[in-house]
Amino acid sequence: MSEKAIHGSCLCQTVQFEISPPFEKMVHCHCSRCRKGTGTGHATNLIVAPEQLKWLSGEDAIGRYDLPSAKSFGKWFCRNCGSPLPRVSRSGTAVVVPAGSLDEAPPIEPTDHIFWDDRTPWDSDSGGLPTHTDYPDSWK
Ligand SMILES: [Zn+2]
Ligand SMILES: [Zn+2]
Repeated sequence: MSEKAIHGSCLCQTVQFEISPPFEKMVHCHCSRCRKGTGTGHATNLIVAPEQLKWLSGEDAIGRYDLPSAKSFGKWFCRNCGSPLPRVSRSGTAVVVPAGSLDEAPPIEPTDHIFWDDRTPWDSDSGGLPTHTDYPDSWK
C-alpha cells in the first residue's frame, strides 16, 4: 500500500500527532455529546487502532475529560487552545480522531451517519450516505 501517515495538530500547534495507515473507518456522528463536545452540528471522526496514533509533541498539554454519565464518551483537548484532539477510548481498544484536527485529507471519506435520529434540525442533510440509529451493523 502506498498510504502514508497523516499529520495532525491543534490550533496553537502545541500538540502534534501522526496517524499511520490503514484508514478504514470515518463517520459523521450526530449524538448530543459530539455536538456539545465540538460546538458543531455533528462530529466527523476517523476511527483507528491505538497503535496507529503517535504523539509527536505537546503530549503534556493534553487535557482529558471523561463524561461521568457515559460508559466511554470523553474528550481530549489542548489545554492551551481548547482544540479537540484524538482520544483513546476508555477501554483502550480504539482511537477517535476528530477529522478537523488533521492537517491533510485522509485517503477515505465518511461512509455513514451515526446517531442520525439525534441530529439537530439545522444540520445539513445526509448527502446520500447510509444513516444509523446508533452504530452500523458491521461495527457491532
Ligand atoms: Zn493547542
Ligand atoms: Zn457522537
